[in-house]
Amino acid sequence: MKPFWDEMLNQLKGEVDESEFNFWLEPLACLRSDQSRIVVEVPSKFFRDKLEPRYLKRFKELLADLTGRDITLEFEVRKREDTPTPRPRKQEVSEDEGTARRAEKPKAKKHTHNPGLRPEFSFDHFVIGENDFAYNAALGVAGDPGTRYNPFMIYGGVGLGKTHLMQAIGNHICQLHPDLTVLCVSANTFLTDYVNAMKSSHSQQFAQKYRNVDVLLLDDIHELQRGKETQEELFHTFKALHDKHKQMVFTCDRPPTELKDFNERLQTRFTAGLTVDLQIPSWETRLAILLKKMESKALKIDLEVLEMVARNVTTNVRDLEAALNQITAYAELTRKPITLEVAQENLKKIFAGIIAPNVTIETVQRVIADYYNLSTNDLKGKKRNQAIVFPRQVAMYLIRELTEYSTTEVGIEFGGRDHTTVMHACQKVEEKLRTDPGFDPVIQNLIRSIKDYGKRSL
Ligand code: ADP
Ligand code: MG
Repeated sequence: MKPFWDEMLNQLKGEVDESEFNFWLEPLACLRSDQSRIVVEVPSKFFRDKLEPRYLKRFKELLADLTGRDITLEFEVRKREDTPTPRPRKQEVSEDEGTARRAEKPKAKKHTHNPGLRPEFSFDHFVIGENDFAYNAALGVAGDPGTRYNPFMIYGGVGLGKTHLMQAIGNHICQLHPDLTVLCVSANTFLTDYVNAMKSSHSQQFAQKYRNVDVLLLDDIHELQRGKETQEELFHTFKALHDKHKQMVFTCDRPPTELKDFNERLQTRFTAGLTVDLQIPSWETRLAILLKKMESKALKIDLEVLEMVARNVTTNVRDLEAALNQITAYAELTRKPITLEVAQENLKKIFAGIIAPNVTIETVQRVIADYYNLSTNDLKGKKRNQAIVFPRQVAMYLIRELTEYSTTEVGIEFGGRDHTTVMHACQKVEEKLRTDPGFDPVIQNLIRSIKDYGKRSL
């Protein structure tokens, strides 16, 4: 039965997060078994009490699938005297270390072979757009790890491609230098590993995992805020790797100087190499990303539909991808070609949760008036000086972009203006977007404020 238990764990690996797996499942060793029973060792009673409601049902289902039998599972709490030092993580167990229980976990040095990288997160699949600086710097790091730009820090908002770019570095290094050991983990895994190592006084295994690599890629270090001890440990890991000229890459959701409750020495170290930030993509880049993502799909979607998605999903690339997946899923399920009409009809379904909640004409007017230091009456009124005309045009444009009101309806809400005035306003703003590269970020900011405002009033 032991091989079935191992195979089951293997399958669960694909179902749960890496940190979840490392914490709950990796410590589970099969102690003994017979034809209908498996006895599994757990580190503590507490662990068992938490594990059972979480996993028992799934364990039984998977084991029944694998063995074709109903298997009884027993969890035995590890006895202290029996294992003076708790069982190390399985990839670090050496062959001659002892019991049959340990020997049945054969995967040595998992991370050298499977450094936690997703092959699709490559440089080739990354659309450069406005992130040419970050992209070229990342390429530089990947081409010559550990020499320049160490550490390399990538920061930016959610869904802007931090993980993708970081993993592209790892994939590139693995290809160019198969002899180098690359380890890519989330900061959460680092934290869980550290906590487990402390709990089991197995700090050596921990150090071995993190300090014996040539390249360490650590994702989302903001997750370590408030974890003082883990930060301290990361500081030592950092020093050890840096002294040996090993490349480190970090990602963070904000400039590292803005991390709260963070070890200052570490913060200084983070920015001692090269720091790049990722920008929100412009609409051309958004369209280019959609076209890139379509390359790997068998399905065809009209360009005008992709343009509409690129126009409507302005938050980040993850949302953009989610919208595209909705559309392709819709096309596959209904077996209908997605025309612009179909896409528009299903806009609400396709963009569920992506398009701003509750964006009203009034919200847009209020946000724009605030931004340009005007009153909403100014926007709706008759005055025609440029200081008011342009903000009014922006407001009309954004309403057309973010809501489904017709030009006629929008005109009515701006002091009864004609729909052609609204169309003209949209053209003016689009023209400015095309000719003034500094204007797109302003629009993106306004869109974000409007959406935030919409969320507040939900
Ligand atoms: P983050 O780590 O910043 O939250 P991710 O790297 O996970 O974001 O990116 C979210 C999704 O968007 C991923 O599927 C990624 O491939 C895609 N993505 C982000 N930026 C780009 C880009 N410039 N080109 C192509 N795909 C991108
Ligand atoms: Mg990420």
